[in-house]
Amino acid sequence: MALIKESDDLIIARKALVFQKAETEKLAAELRIANYARSLIEASLDPLVTISTKGKITDMNEAFVNSTGMTRKKLIGTHFFDYFTEPQKAREVYQEVFAQGSVADSPLTLRHKKGKLTDVLFNGSVYKDDKANVLGVVVVARDITDQKCNATKLNEAIVFAELATGIAEEAKRKAESATGIAEDAVKAKQQFLSNMSHEIRTPMNAIIGFTKVMLKTDLSAKQKEYLTAIKMSGDALIVLINDILDLAKVDAGKMIFEEIPFKMALSLSAMLHLFETKIREKNIVLVKEYDKKIPEVLVGDPVRLHQIILNLVSNAVKFTAEGTITVSVRLLNEDEKKATIEFAVKDTGIGIPENKTGDIFKNFQQASSGTSRLYGGTGLGLAIVKQLVESQGGNIHVTSKLDKGSTFSFTLSFQKTNAKAEMEAEIAELDAEIKDMKVLVVEDIALNQLLMKTLLDDFGFECDIAANGKIAVEKIHSKSYDIILMDLQMPEMNGFEATDYIRRIMHSEIPIIALTADVTTVDLEKCKVVGMNDYIAKPVDERLLYSKIIGLVKKPFPANAIAIEENTHNESKKLKCTDLDYLIHRTKSNPTLMMEMIALYLEQTPPLIKAMNKSFQSKDWNSLYSAVHKMIPSFAIMGISIDFENMAKKVQEYASTQKQGDGIHDLVQQLGNICTQACCELEEEFKRIKSANP
Ligand code: ADP
Repeated sequence: MALIKESDDLIIARKALVFQKAETEKLAAELRIANYARSLIEASLDPLVTISTKGKITDMNEAFVNSTGMTRKKLIGTHFFDYFTEPQKAREVYQEVFAQGSVADSPLTLRHKKGKLTDVLFNGSVYKDDKANVLGVVVVARDITDQKCNATKLNEAIVFAELATGIAEEAKRKAESATGIAEDAVKAKQQFLSNMSHEIRTPMNAIIGFTKVMLKTDLSAKQKEYLTAIKMSGDALIVLINDILDLAKVDAGKMIFEEIPFKMALSLSAMLHLFETKIREKNIVLVKEYDKKIPEVLVGDPVRLHQIILNLVSNAVKFTAEGTITVSVRLLNEDEKKATIEFAVKDTGIGIPENKTGDIFKNFQQASSGTSRLYGGTGLGLAIVKQLVESQGGNIHVTSKLDKGSTFSFTLSFQKTNAKAEMEAEIAELDAEIKDMKVLVVEDIALNQLLMKTLLDDFGFECDIAANGKIAVEKIHSKSYDIILMDLQMPEMNGFEATDYIRRIMHSEIPIIALTADVTTVDLEKCKVVGMNDYIAKPVDERLLYSKIIGLVKKPFPANAIAIEENTHNESKKLKCTDLDYLIHRTKSNPTLMMEMIALYLEQTPPLIKAMNKSFQSKDWNSLYSAVHKMIPSFAIMGISIDFENMAKKVQEYASTQKQGDGIHDLVQQLGNICTQACCELEEEFKRIKSANP
């Protein structure tokens, strides 16, 4: 029994022990949880604090201690709102927590005892005991110093950005207004230049044109000499005006480059044609080397290309007293889309000192101070050439040796095309039937009207004049014409409007050639769009005008009948001195008549050359007079330049007066040479016509 009692005690003791152990474990677990909770609370970077219902601090974490700079001990039991910069506001927030149970994100600022401030968002909620009695408030003061700082920075950045935007907008406004002013100034300058160009060129064209017309009339040698001087000065002035205008255009970035299909070989031939007389006069040789691999039609700006080569060849001719000028055009490389071509103009002239080869491409720069006095010129040509080449993506350079010669070469790329060449200055072959050609000239300037009338009369064409597009339209209604030569700038109705009217309203297909004073800016595209067939630049080259008219009005002459076109491919040769345009025109392309005339020339000329040389040597002035006198009419018929005709007249005059004999010897020699060359060329022509017309 005692044992049983004992064992009951033991059981109780054991149970007590188990209970105690459980309690201890429970306590230990609770302690762990409390420690865990504590460490979480302490780890928080945001200040945490518990406050009694009286507003006194009961507990806090490390972050709160750090924000206030007080010890835990000192904090316990103090009023929590004392640590805020606005204690009253903190108190109100705290009361709100009690009233509402919680408060979220109320902004307040904690103050450190040393003055440092911590911006916080006050989040508080009441905590209660088991019986729901409110014991106090737990406050989490979220530290938003960094956010606030960032927000401030952001705000500042926004303000700055807005300010900067404002400044930029203001600057933009100012820039726009400055650009506007500059653009207006450029426009005004352009307008001025365009007006100037028109105002200067119009009278200049008339001066040159009428001088040309007068040169064809019966004049004494002296008069011819003076008129030739006037014409040369006029030509020089036109070149200068064009140069200055071009330079101004390049400077203003207003240089427009056309993109039109053109035939490179033809364009080059037509251009070199212009130098024939000069080359012959100077007794130098012009050689053309043309790479036949170059595609026939390319897309680019033939007018500018013309201008570049013209400048370089003019210089070569000017600075070369003897020897050869070689113009070579070579295909550098080619792909499906484009062809890159190298152009070179080589001369055997005076050369350029090495230290000057860079300068000569600058405005108004010449190789030496004596250049202008000896050779004339302004030093603008190469500056323009360089700009023209570089603006089209090419480059130019020169190699030169003093007293040996210079080579200017440049490369340009051109787009390839399958299109046909359009609106190009191609000299049309002539037609068999040119009868009663009726031409309407639409031109407002009286001088130009007269000039065109004189030229057309000379061709044997009938010519009516209309002073503007409107009158032209009226005239076309009442009379039929074969072709219209249309000026572009006119009052009332300009050339574009008139052409548009003729094509769209009147549905007329009559050929129209635009007459333009400013071929460098002529809107060829516009001419084409309104339906013009071609254009010609003023001052009008009468041969070009003639061939263009014939080319457009009548069907072309059978290709095998007369072949006056040069064979340019890979072949170097002297330019021709004869041109059968006139003969074809006068004989109405009758091959028999042409052969008769050529045969007569070939029969008469060699004895005349002999007689001229012989009589000059023996000072038999009467025979000299008579030989040269007989030669003179044939120059015009065979298309030999008027300059040689003038030389012959000079010799003739000398033969009759024996005055002013300077240079007569040279003239006689040159006449002999040219007539001999003409005989060779005409012999070939004769054979060609004969074989084409068996
Ligand atoms: P300009 O011929 O009107 O003087 P350019 O700009 O065409 O003006 O040429 C500038 C200068 O370059 C010329 O004055 C001349 O001194 C030199 N120059 C140009 N081309 C040649 C050349 N082919 N041979 C020798 N010198 C040349």
